[in-house]
Amino acid sequence: MVAELISVGTELLMGQILDTNAQYLSRQLSDMGIRVLYKSTIGDNPQRMKEAFSQALSRSDLVITTGGLGPTPDDITKEMWAEMMGLPLYEDAACMERLEARFQTFHPGKPMASINRKQAFMPQGAIVMPNPNGTAPGCIIDKDGKIVVIMPGPPFEMKPMFENHAKPFLYSKCDDMLVSHFVRILGMGESDVAATLQDLIDGQANPTIATYISTTDVQVRITAKCKRGEDAQAILEPMEKEVLRRLGDYVYEVGEEALEDVVARMLIERGATLSIAESCTGGWLTSALVAYSGASRFLQEGLVTYSNAAKSRHLQIDASLIETHGAVSYEVAQAMAVHSRTISGADYGLSVTGIAGPTGGTDEKPVGTVYIGVADEHGVQVEHFKFSSDRSRNRQRAVTNALNLLRLRILANDKLQGIPQK
Ligand code: ATP
Ligand code: MG
Repeated sequence: MVAELISVGTELLMGQILDTNAQYLSRQLSDMGIRVLYKSTIGDNPQRMKEAFSQALSRSDLVITTGGLGPTPDDITKEMWAEMMGLPLYEDAACMERLEARFQTFHPGKPMASINRKQAFMPQGAIVMPNPNGTAPGCIIDKDGKIVVIMPGPPFEMKPMFENHAKPFLYSKCDDMLVSHFVRILGMGESDVAATLQDLIDGQANPTIATYISTTDVQVRITAKCKRGEDAQAILEPMEKEVLRRLGDYVYEVGEEALEDVVARMLIERGATLSIAESCTGGWLTSALVAYSGASRFLQEGLVTYSNAAKSRHLQIDASLIETHGAVSYEVAQAMAVHSRTISGADYGLSVTGIAGPTGGTDEKPVGTVYIGVADEHGVQVEHFKFSSDRSRNRQRAVTNALNLLRLRILANDKLQGIPQK
């Protein structure tokens, strides 16, 4: 199946927003074994939209558009597709009901403006895709050997719609498909991961296996090729098990869950609490964990103790300790983690202190030097890292490594308590 993506929106053409939808969909489709051969961006202009749609239909089996499903007159994607495919628009009762119910939740007692009603009109014969995260439903047109998938622009509306509706539909249409699982790894470089899996990579057939590197982690993709109705899981499982066995605790996730969510869940599952003392990450570490809904169940506090004085004032760190070893040091990271834990009464204390750069480095402690500490009832562990000269990346990597150190400490405590490992 040959696929084509069209992102609709003048703001995309003007560079005001980045087309992350196209990247997400490209990745999803290629993981499924659907070949994306064209991608384009088009403004909210009826003539050019029609040209782009008709060209796409002439060369692709599947066309996916995102954007232009809003209530305003310049949102015309659905109308253009209906015209192009020769399908009249009808008022879909279920869509209208959901639209009105949603409007009442946000504007109780107010009548819905007539302009909004246009979002409940659908091309005749289309499969409607509800949108629990916004007002505009999407739809799938399956006509004359062509499939058109029409989805809203906002990524947080589009992604769940694709995952829950469009993807299963597309799977049902493909004879051959690819199903991929991603094993996500921290604390081991890509070449070491590849070396550990070398014989599996060399001997791969079905499933196939490959390593990737991202800004924060290393990933192993395991992909099964199967016929419609075949059990992909059964093909993936033996390889996945072997990969997990070899990589052990370096694996933090199989799937798409972010590290901070993995760590948050681990803390909640164990009923453990956490306090954080951060310096060069400036609150980022705390913020990453607070993004997890339910963070109040484990997070006691997150202090940003940036200056030396703040470290003494809030964390009771001896000025002489900082004087002797420097704020960015093994000793200070250790004291920050221990004091953060004891002052707050949390089960774990996590600390970060480092030189984010680009200035402030010395020969002894160059830019990118970061110390991360984690304290618990058994003691404290401090790790020393040497990152790059890029401030933003250094801070990001400090956050990632702090979360990972905490994750490993939790796993080590599980082992001490004889809790079976997954
Ligand atoms: P709305 O009902 O919000 O108007 P819509 O379906 O009409 O939704 P657009 O108006 O095209 O969508 O875009 C709304 C917002 O969604 C954009 O301002 C942008 O933030 C986001 N968005 C749209 N298209 C993309 C894209 N291709 N990649 C990333 N974000 C996008
Ligand atoms: Mg819009």
